[in-house]
Amino acid sequence: MYGNIREHLQNELSKIREAGLYKNERIIVSSQDAVIMLDSGKEVLNFCANNYLGLSNHPELISAAKSALDSHGYGMSSVRFICGTTDIHKELEKRISNFFGTDDTILYAACFDANGGIFEPLFSEEDVIISDVLNHASIIDGVRLSKARRLRYKNVDMIDLEDQLQKSLDSRFRVIVTDGVFSMDGNVAPIDEIVRLAEKYDALVMVDECHSAGVVGDTGRGVTEKFKVRGEVDIITGTLGKAFGGAVGGFTTGRKEIIDILRQRSRPYLFSNSLPPAVVGAGIRIFEIMAETTEFQDRLHWNTNYFVNKILEAGFDIKPTKSAICAVMLYDAKLSQHFANLLLKEGIYVTGFYYPVVPDGQARIRVQLSASHKKEHLDKAITAFTKIGKELGVLK
Ligand SMILES: *Cc1c(COP(=O)(O)O)cnc(C)c1O
Repeated sequence: MYGNIREHLQNELSKIREAGLYKNERIIVSSQDAVIMLDSGKEVLNFCANNYLGLSNHPELISAAKSALDSHGYGMSSVRFICGTTDIHKELEKRISNFFGTDDTILYAACFDANGGIFEPLFSEEDVIISDVLNHASIIDGVRLSKARRLRYKNVDMIDLEDQLQKSLDSRFRVIVTDGVFSMDGNVAPIDEIVRLAEKYDALVMVDECHSAGVVGDTGRGVTEKFKVRGEVDIITGTLGKAFGGAVGGFTTGRKEIIDILRQRSRPYLFSNSLPPAVVGAGIRIFEIMAETTEFQDRLHWNTNYFVNKILEAGFDIKPTKSAICAVMLYDAKLSQHFANLLLKEGIYVTGFYYPVVPDGQARIRVQLSASHKKEHLDKAITAFTKIGKELGVLK
């Protein structure tokens, strides 16, 4: 039985390899941090993790996870509504609501699930979902699972968004959906303008804060802080897998009735296991830290400004960024791979992205800054970038 499909899969795999698109995974043998050890024994500086606040390996989180293991055990062996809800799940939900200034929060195994389980319970044939073209794959999949009509608008293009809103006026409900930060360019959604359009056309607003929460806004409360619309966005989704400790876990936070109906009807919540206590315990500690200090956000913002200024001074072309993502533009796919390999030899670990992950002819190296980077790490990266940039003739 396996014979036919095996041959088919082998063909597909060779096509992927021939196109140079086969993804090889590099093996790390240390914990996630600014400095990591690869299985080759080489130590490198890590500039491609979503570890924005440098919390992935923070001793206080490790200790909070251990104490939740001791108090609440290893696994929940249940979904939330049967016997998978503990006091600490409720406490984490409350802390996330406080962080975002929302009514209530529902936890998921991942933000992929939060986005996969948001549309189908809320919207059906009579409704319209209006989505930014660059929204995350999990939003695209979530939208597909609902019966609502779909419209798309060009990335952060408010004129196009308004056109789509006008086309949707005959619908029962309309919702505008956007990422807070777009992960390939590091640009932000102008959520204040989106909220204004939503008011004008009586639409709901949903923002996915995965790359913006902990990062954007003076205290890292995300795009609603940056654009001063806290409390005006109806639905926020986010992850515990990026700035907030980098383990696993997602959430939807927002209006009371929306969260309530998700607890009743959202399929990835109803039919998937509850988050393990260790993750929940560490999650609580993260949001306690967020309420006590902004030192991690402050360091991240300092590091990002420093890196961006230095890379511009060196003569590189970058996408204008409003986040902790800095896209260093090389335009050519092969060049981006060659550049990343040379950087690795210099001890700088980054990833080169090219078509179809980014538009054709827009190949780049994506640098992700972290609060865990020290100034000497940033200087070492800039020196390596400059050296290779000169060698390959890409500096202005
Ligand atoms: C990473 C990411 C997700 C998925 O989050 P997980 O918790 O890892 O599933 C969803 N949306 C956006 C915008 C992301 O960047």
